[in-house]
Amino acid sequence: MIMTINEIEHSVFAEIHNTHTAKELEEVRARYLGRKGTLTSVLRGLAELSLEDRREIGPRAQALRDRIEEACEDRLQDFEATSETFFDVSFPGKKITVGHHNPLSLLIQDTEDIFLSLGFSVVDGPEVETEFNNFDALNIPANHPAREMWDTFWLKRAHNTEPRKLLRTHTSPVQIRYMQTHEPPFRIIVPGTTYRYEATDARHEMQFSQIEGLAVGETVTLANFKSIITAFFSRLFAQKVEIRLRPSYFPFVEPGVEVDATCPRCHKRGCELCTFTGWLELGGAGMVHPHVFDAVGYNPNTIQGFAFGVGAERLAMIKYGIPDIRLFRSSDLRFIQQF
Ligand SMILES: [Zn+2]
Repeated sequence: MIMTINEIEHSVFAEIHNTHTAKELEEVRARYLGRKGTLTSVLRGLAELSLEDRREIGPRAQALRDRIEEACEDRLQDFEATSETFFDVSFPGKKITVGHHNPLSLLIQDTEDIFLSLGFSVVDGPEVETEFNNFDALNIPANHPAREMWDTFWLKRAHNTEPRKLLRTHTSPVQIRYMQTHEPPFRIIVPGTTYRYEATDARHEMQFSQIEGLAVGETVTLANFKSIITAFFSRLFAQKVEIRLRPSYFPFVEPGVEVDATCPRCHKRGCELCTFTGWLELGGAGMVHPHVFDAVGYNPNTIQGFAFGVGAERLAMIKYGIPDIRLFRSSDLRFIQQF
């Protein structure tokens, strides 16, 4: 009989603890304390024992019964507290909603990873800029016709004497900030938000993202740029991409080029994305203009470098097949949840 009590004591509390519903708990309780319960039989059997045995076993059995009652009571309160008293373990679970990255963030993360592996650093700058950093230092003086290429959001001034500030129209002013505070050689990329005061449509937004690149040193060449940008697009689109540079004009570079890449969707065969040309125009680039080096205090006779800019939304639209640039900042969960 002592053995039975030991066995009960050994198992009953774990069994109570492992119950998940009031019904299960009641079954455990009945198994020990019910009319035919194990402990109930022990208590009944006491009458047949010798006085000596009764004195030894009786109080232990009684105490155990009280502890089991108490444990059942506690467990029942646990269920009530969590209000999960009844649940069907075979019931299908609820789908957990997890957050999604905006495809623009994914694109920028990929870009950063690729350029970091190519020896570039990632640099940041403010979105509110001075006129000097956004235009003048980049060889775009106030009355230069090229200034018209950038429709600008100007900030209000408290006094007309204050220098004008603006929402940066490109990430290029970060080139100026970086060169003013660092000595070459270096390679940086600058992903960031930019603003243009213009009408929006499926391909144009007032707020968009650029990825700027700048590599400066004594021997940096346009050929270096071509190999870097080929490696970048090939890894970004996960296929071998060919690059074509066409002469173009940007005030802060000389020579300036448009950067075309072979269409990653049709592999140069021609499709709607590339308007059946096999090529996509993906950015602008060139060798940094000597005036820009002058503006930051570098010697253009000993220092040279390339700069480039690509549109992050455009790359994401191509990579993920997104048809409209306005989707990126629409906050539409049906869009975001696809990535
Ligand atoms: Zn194509």
